[in-house]
Amino acid sequence: MPQLIDGKKISAEIKDELKAKVQRMKEGGVSVCLAVIQVGNDPASSIYVNNKKKACAYIGIESLAYELPEETTQEELVELVEKLNEDKKVNGILVQLPLPAHIDSDAIIRTISPDKDVDGFHPESVGRLCIGADGFVSCTPAGVIQLLKRSGIEIAGKECVVIGRSNIVGKPMSILLLRENGTVTVAHSRTRNLKEVTRRADILVVAIGKPRFINSEYVKENAVVIDVGMHRNAENKLCGDVDFEDVKGRVSAITPVPGGVGPMTIAMLMYNCVRAAEK
Ligand code: NAP
Repeated sequence: MPQLIDGKKISAEIKDELKAKVQRMKEGGVSVCLAVIQVGNDPASSIYVNNKKKACAYIGIESLAYELPEETTQEELVELVEKLNEDKKVNGILVQLPLPAHIDSDAIIRTISPDKDVDGFHPESVGRLCIGADGFVSCTPAGVIQLLKRSGIEIAGKECVVIGRSNIVGKPMSILLLRENGTVTVAHSRTRNLKEVTRRADILVVAIGKPRFINSEYVKENAVVIDVGMHRNAENKLCGDVDFEDVKGRVSAITPVPGGVGPMTIAMLMYNCVRAAEK
């Protein structure tokens, strides 16, 4: 049996560390506050927003919830974000995506002050990540790095292959692995001979968005496999981008779905909020 990389346990560890830190900050007169904006009532978004509020409550972060109607205009949303940018009490601003089609998400992300951009999606945050400057990092890939480090998996010098080049997962993931001195290859839908590329990987991070796409033929023996994917199968059970049952006999370590990368995203969001307040 390979090492199971336990995202539930590691995310709980991180949240407990943050809880203790927030307590110390409070004793020193510093509080932490996150503003969460949701437009419309997409059920999946409501679940995510609720989970974020619960995590804030556990750690001792105040959360301000803005639940806006579907018809909210771009101008109204910009106005709210600008108001929160100016509000000294608010350390982090999160606009839950996706936004309704009539709102330009990129424009909204650009409106958030880079000092409060706890999702790490603002172009300034992305630029800072690329040049190795201090800034907020997109939560899911930051969570993957924590999973590897806290599981005792060395990144430096390793062949790392990331499948996927999205702005929220694949691209920042590849830059973070590079920052940790991995030798990084990014594969995508136009990659030729995907299996040959992925079989080079000591560490394979899969963010392809296709249920159980990656089987043992894509994986080198004793590789570490991180499955970012998140899907509901026909029986409404969660599964990843990796065929866990097929791959598990071949790898040295692997993240399960659920209980792998998933819980790390919120933990790293909380981490970013605390950092925003420390700044
Ligand atoms: P995405 O925007 O759909 O990106 C998918 C990437 O996979 C694209 O870069 C695409 O290439 C590439 N791809 C698609 N088919 C391919 C193929 N046959 N061969 C090689 N590459 C292929 O997805 P995402 O937002 O990055 O999310 C990826 C997965 O992670 C999803 O399952 C999502 O639900 C999950 N996710 C989980 C969390 C979490 O908290 N655990 C957070 C975010 C996302 P092109 O660029 O060429 O189209």
